[in-house]
Amino acid sequence: MIIGEHRPSKLVIDREAIRHNIREEVQRLPKDCELFMVVKANGYGHGAVQVAAAAKEAGAKGFCVAILDEALELRAAGFDEPILVLGVVEPEYAPLMAREKVSTTVAAEDWLAEADHYLKLSQPKEPLRVHLGLDTGMGRIGFQTPAALQHAVAFLAEHDTVFTFEGMFTHFSTADEASADYFHKQVERWDAFMAAVPDKPRYVHVTNSATSLWHADHNINIVRYGAAGYGLNPSGNTLKPPFELQPAMSLVSELAHCKQLAAGESVSYGATYTTTKAEWVGTVSLGYADGYERRLQGFHVLVDGQPCEIIGRICMDQFMIRLPHQYPRGTKVTLVGRNGGAEITLQEMAEYCGTINYEIACGFTARVPRRYT
Ligand code: PLP
Repeated sequence: MIIGEHRPSKLVIDREAIRHNIREEVQRLPKDCELFMVVKANGYGHGAVQVAAAAKEAGAKGFCVAILDEALELRAAGFDEPILVLGVVEPEYAPLMAREKVSTTVAAEDWLAEADHYLKLSQPKEPLRVHLGLDTGMGRIGFQTPAALQHAVAFLAEHDTVFTFEGMFTHFSTADEASADYFHKQVERWDAFMAAVPDKPRYVHVTNSATSLWHADHNINIVRYGAAGYGLNPSGNTLKPPFELQPAMSLVSELAHCKQLAAGESVSYGATYTTTKAEWVGTVSLGYADGYERRLQGFHVLVDGQPCEIIGRICMDQFMIRLPHQYPRGTKVTLVGRNGGAEITLQEMAEYCGTINYEIACGFTARVPRRYT
């Protein structure tokens, strides 16, 4: 993917904000509970390697990713901390994970039997580190009953030259909601799983950002900390975080063009916007190919501390805004972040698009350069 280095549109990532969001969380954790920063999907769009470095400075002791390639990226960048892949990796990559000391999530016993085959064939020096995923109500991946869990634990014990039983975990699906009813149902199921395995592995973990922010008493010995580390409230606006989350991501550009249109002139594909009087119209070099969604037509950006409406359809690489008056080419345009006394948050963009802040953050494509402060 070509990166738009010669264009003024860029994502600006504030590493001190990430460090702040992590330090605040680390100091709330029980003494033997470690923060693993979740840097999947290129660090929720912020840049996995740079986020991992900032997180480590702020006290993160390990990392979580979604797919094996993301773990390998961190290893190639020199991180030797524990890395857990949260998704299911094909068993044929078990030897590669063992060699790279990457911990893997296992969701079913037949996976272990297949991985055992590949591990015995290639005989890596180290056993494969396994975290058993437990499905307590997320309905995504994991063992479904305490009996199935016990079976897998027995398999691991019988194959302890090939596997290390390193962890057990579950994922809560409603920890970011005001009602805790479903959360408690999942906790009950988790408790039943735990009762079935008296000899616990090194890592036992259930908390993501939301669980750790609003159900902190459930922290065991890892918090898998994603959204809040980036300054994103996992609940949107539903619940207030126990400390200030500082947003790390801004998106800025400059006016690429500015002109006056006479009354009755239309703007962009489909001519969906027509001026009612003479209007100053600015063009910004960013579009849906950059992850600036087409659904944002009618939303606004900030110029000179003022909201300016996005008029007409957002194109693949450009969009137009209505300006209060003429501005020179090169005038700063803020799409996310502060400009003058005003601010646009990822949360506001998400609400406008009918989605969550996570999706907006990780939707910006590789074409937009990331700059770090
Ligand atoms: N744990 C698991 C299993 C996840 O899938 C995720 C993210 O989706 C996280 C932790 C991190 O969640 P959050 O970004 O809400 O902290």
